[in-house]
Amino acid sequence: MHVLLVEDDDAIAVPLAKGLERQNFTVRREASGLAAVDAITEPPAPNIVLLDLGLPDIDGYEVCRRIRATSSVPIIVVTARGEEIDRVLGLELGADDYIVKPFGFRELVARINAVTRRTAASEEPEEPIVHLSGGFVLDNRTRRVTRGDTEIVLTRKEFDLLALLATDPGATHTREEILEQVWDAHWYGPTKTLDVHIASLRKKLDDHELIETVRGVGFRLRTAELPPTA
Ligand code: CA
Repeated sequence: MHVLLVEDDDAIAVPLAKGLERQNFTVRREASGLAAVDAITEPPAPNIVLLDLGLPDIDGYEVCRRIRATSSVPIIVVTARGEEIDRVLGLELGADDYIVKPFGFRELVARINAVTRRTAASEEPEEPIVHLSGGFVLDNRTRRVTRGDTEIVLTRKEFDLLALLATDPGATHTREEILEQVWDAHWYGPTKTLDVHIASLRKKLDDHELIETVRGVGFRLRTAELPPTA
């Protein structure tokens, strides 16, 4: 895995690069924003960018914007200031995650792994069309759910939630996994949100057994076919 490390401070960049190399990452380090933007187009293409916001030429926001103009490579922003997070993760800049200095090395590696796993999963969608028990058809390309001729209109989160469960019908997805994948990697809010969405999905699908509750663990989809209705 190729990491593009964009950091002007040697005291941070040198030990960080060494640590990443020990974890079998190959590291290309750039100390300015313009050099980082150039590096994106040069082989080997990075698999992930670690981007410091305070750079000597153009700042990290501008680097992020310019990278996003040509590439969807995952970007983890490294910031010293927590209040910039909203702007960093906003649609305008399109970073995938952030980490606040000072951070632990293990935390950084965990974030890198989580972000690359998440982006790889979203770039290689599962089966485009999934047939679910009860006659529901979920289309990952059009993000529509239908049953016969009827479309079941879902919100974005409701669709994401159902699509996640549909990646492996019958397998139990834990609440933590669902919250992390459908909501946010750093979701520490009340898990009631998940229950509200499950309830809403069941109501819209008009099928209260398609999504089965695995008490104390999470949820899974029913795999058995329903007997045909008379
Ligand atoms: Ca800096």
